[in-house]
Amino acid sequence: MRESREAKRARARKIVRALKKAYPDAKIALDFETPLELLVATILSAQCTDERVNTVTPALFKKYPSARDYVRAEAAALEQEVRSTGFYRAKTRSIMGMAKALVDDHGGEVPRTREALTSLPGVGLKTANVILGNAFGEPAIAVDTHVFRVSQRLGLARSEDPDEIHDQLVEVLPRREWTLTTHLLQSHGRRCCVARKPLCPECPVLALCPWPGKTKIR
Ligand code: SF4
Repeated sequence: MRESREAKRARARKIVRALKKAYPDAKIALDFETPLELLVATILSAQCTDERVNTVTPALFKKYPSARDYVRAEAAALEQEVRSTGFYRAKTRSIMGMAKALVDDHGGEVPRTREALTSLPGVGLKTANVILGNAFGEPAIAVDTHVFRVSQRLGLARSEDPDEIHDQLVEVLPRREWTLTTHLLQSHGRRCCVARKPLCPECPVLALCPWPGKTKIR
């Protein structure tokens, strides 16, 4: 039987409650102090672990404290500085293009609206929502690989397109907890509902999960 919107919302609230208990330390894993730092770190985190990004960013943030510093950067030097995060040429182009747009259109500051953020080069909905949720305190769901997988297994959303997953999640998750729920789903995806062989027998939301591929006790 198809689950009604109301039933899904009620189940989503129970899931959030259970995940809060299971992962009381859930928070953003990227290190940052300013919106610009988070924007740069989030660009670097594409196809890379947050731990790896955190090893690269302290020196980067010290050398390039403002958007203007990235605009004035030597591309070849910046490429080497971010090389270990992978896709370093594309990431360097994104960072420098984003910084130029900040300087040209926003006085060097990171804008606070979703529309302005997503109009920056290299900044999509996921990155914009990471910034809004974690640098500006605006409730926002950022659909990364973990949120994409876990929310589908939990039957909270279904699509091949992360932006559609986002639009479905905002319909069922409590608004004021969107940012925290992102971190909870990410923690759950990293520690329990992993891509291959999730640890279903130990899962804190086992009874709330309709996924037919659940693993059994070995
Ligand atoms: S029961 Fe398994 S598939 Fe469902 S959320 Fe838990 S770990 Fe993931």
